[in-house]
Amino acid sequence: MSCDFLALAQPGVQKLSPYVPGKPVDELARELDLDPATIVKLASNENPLGPSPKAIAAIKAQLDELTRYPDGNGFVLKHKLAERYDVDVDQVTLGNGSNDILELVARAYLAPGLNAVFSEHAFAVYPIATQAVGAQAKAVPARQWGHDLDAMLAAIDERTRVVFLANPNNPTGTWFAADALGTFLASVPEQVLVVLDEAYIEYATGGELPDGVAFLASHPNLLVSRTFSKAYGLAALRVGYAICSPRIADVLNRVRQPFNVNSLALAAACAALDDERYLTESRACNAAGMLQLEAGFKALGLDWIPSRGNFIAVDFGRDAAPINQALLSQGIIVRPIAGYGMPTFLRVSIGTEAENARFLDVLGKVLQS
Ligand SMILES: *Cc1c(COP(=O)(O)O)cnc(C)c1O
Repeated sequence: MSCDFLALAQPGVQKLSPYVPGKPVDELARELDLDPATIVKLASNENPLGPSPKAIAAIKAQLDELTRYPDGNGFVLKHKLAERYDVDVDQVTLGNGSNDILELVARAYLAPGLNAVFSEHAFAVYPIATQAVGAQAKAVPARQWGHDLDAMLAAIDERTRVVFLANPNNPTGTWFAADALGTFLASVPEQVLVVLDEAYIEYATGGELPDGVAFLASHPNLLVSRTFSKAYGLAALRVGYAICSPRIADVLNRVRQPFNVNSLALAAACAALDDERYLTESRACNAAGMLQLEAGFKALGLDWIPSRGNFIAVDFGRDAAPINQALLSQGIIVRPIAGYGMPTFLRVSIGTEAENARFLDVLGKVLQS
């Protein structure tokens, strides 16, 4: 009899379920024999405007260098980020997506016998990164779908080394304000690393969300994680970054792959960061699309969770799986979130006006039938 290589995996890994991404457009097109151009994908919180033309130009200019290794220190991008956020360059760590940053933290600071605290309904990568290194994942019950920061503080014990906070959170879109973050940071034991995941912070322009970077100077145990995948429209390239104390950055650098961000990604991220018009348009498109979807849900008599991201969780008050299937059969891809403990919800990314309209139209018909 051959060995059971699942049973041989470390116990935390045996208990993991793989991350379930949004269904790719080409996959649904193959399954339904549809023209991919007719499919609307609002499933992965991608920027519906397409990439910044400046990012595309930067990639093209870089193509002749493909035989060379990328700059493993990401000199230009790190300096640009340091300047933009008024921090020292040795406070910046680049990642292959901010997902990489979360894994670097887990690898450097978690191990069997230690734990990480995060909220129920929070981003699926927190338990994956935690259990992958044999540490315990402590999910704390949410309050009104959002982080219960008091309960999270209470869940911290002597074995806790990391707390993951998402602001706004994915998939709920919930957020917490500056005073709540300040109170939390003032009470967290100083040896606990607080990872503040701000993957959607560029969309939060109304001032209700704190700028995590402003808390760094007074909190050496804080790490702010951000990405070029969402508002900057470069999800395919995988670029994210952490801003934290130089001490923690030095530790992350020790476990990082030497060339974790590729040269096309570095070039495109630099260009995207400089393309202020693209960011302004992305924000405007998102704000308008959010209103459009909210109005559409209201007209359909549906509830939703108010969101500060580029997505919204809508509640059908019953199992949402058949609704998702019906949408798929009409070429609309959104995200079921039963795996996040929200089986009556679907998460819908904000699309272009036309995509949102098509989605609402099909949804209306699905709900009537
Ligand atoms: C999308 C997302 C990320 C990271 O995505 P990357 O593409 O790896 O940068 C991180 N955190 C949350 C909460 C997200 O939704």
